[in-house]
Amino acid sequence: MTIPAVTPPALSTTDTFGRPLQSLRISVIDRCDLRCAYCMPEEDYAWLPKNDILTFDEILALTDAFIDNGVRRVRLTGGEPLLRAGLADLVAGLATRTSIDDLALTTNGTQLARHAVALHTAGLRRVTVSLDSLKPSRFETLTRRAALKDVLAGIEAAAAVGFEALKINTVVMRDFNDDELVDMLEFGRRVGAEVRFIEYMDVGGATLWNRERVVPRHEIIERLATRYGTITEVGSRNRAPAERFQLPGGERFGVISSTTQPFCSECDRSRLTADGFWYLCLYARDGIDLRARVRQGATRDELSQAIARVWGRRADRGAEERVGIVERGALYQIEELRQDPRREMHTRGG
Ligand code: SAM
Ligand code: SF4
Ligand code: SF4
Repeated sequence: MTIPAVTPPALSTTDTFGRPLQSLRISVIDRCDLRCAYCMPEEDYAWLPKNDILTFDEILALTDAFIDNGVRRVRLTGGEPLLRAGLADLVAGLATRTSIDDLALTTNGTQLARHAVALHTAGLRRVTVSLDSLKPSRFETLTRRAALKDVLAGIEAAAAVGFEALKINTVVMRDFNDDELVDMLEFGRRVGAEVRFIEYMDVGGATLWNRERVVPRHEIIERLATRYGTITEVGSRNRAPAERFQLPGGERFGVISSTTQPFCSECDRSRLTADGFWYLCLYARDGIDLRARVRQGATRDELSQAIARVWGRRADRGAEERVGIVERGALYQIEELRQDPRREMHTRGG
């Protein structure tokens, strides 16, 4: 049985810095079919127990309680969200929540060609595909799978379906793929997708992270300016993680400078793991167990109030705190990640 949508009261819960709770990223699975060097570079991983993974009804029940607290943007992520069986059914359930005015998916694209039509029909409006290289052998080195063809087919399928917005996320790593900035923009132009360059972040899972590998925002802009000419900033970020820029020809792209110029002061996002733990910050060490409450039969009101209480005490500004660290290295070593897999980016969702 799928939980029907109910109109929520108009309410926006704010944290200790006055930041509203408006955006929820839901990780629907911790498994992934790629092993990106910046996210899953290890040989073995500890996985969440299958019985702990939230059902779609449990996800919808929690989402409703988040909506009561002001959430209006929902992004499905993972692991690789398209490995979760029947994802379009969850999308259809979320699409009935009229308070959600932005329903999006972040995917590595390997399975997207098969699912694009069903997802669009179910009500998904925006898709972001992660793609870090257009060179087949480099893609394979970076992800440990020869799947570039599948990802490109996924992007083409998504473009053909006509989502309202199609984006490409590219994590830029020095001496890995930083020579492909222009190629990525040209590719984005060809397929009608806006490219967003992401600074390599020292999040959980990025055990190979070091400062030298980060290509900072200003360098990304300077390099593109050398090729294209004057680049102008477009509008304000308005709580979105990406700053947007325009090339002289009018094409737009984004830069997400979480590592060198974080935007915690405007952060209205939090994350739900596939097993129902709620994280108030990408860098937070611990989360709040919402699965237990749902499985104990908490009502929508009880869940909403619990969420409001926790968010009201939120003081997280993880990325800003990292900027001040002199000897900055990987956030965790693999042993600490194995102790609690929810510290992993692929479990917490990007
Ligand atoms: N598997 C899906 C994908 O790759 O799109 C969704 C989950 S993935 C964790 C979400 C996003 O996090 C991706 O765009 C990925 O590039 C980004 N990401 C993961 N590790 C990162 C890191 N160390 N620095 C910056 N971005 C990272
Ligand atoms: Fe790569 Fe996404 Fe999988 Fe991480 S979760 S390894 S970013 S595809
Ligand atoms: Fe938000 Fe934490 Fe990221 Fe800062 S580091 S933008 S507070 S999730």
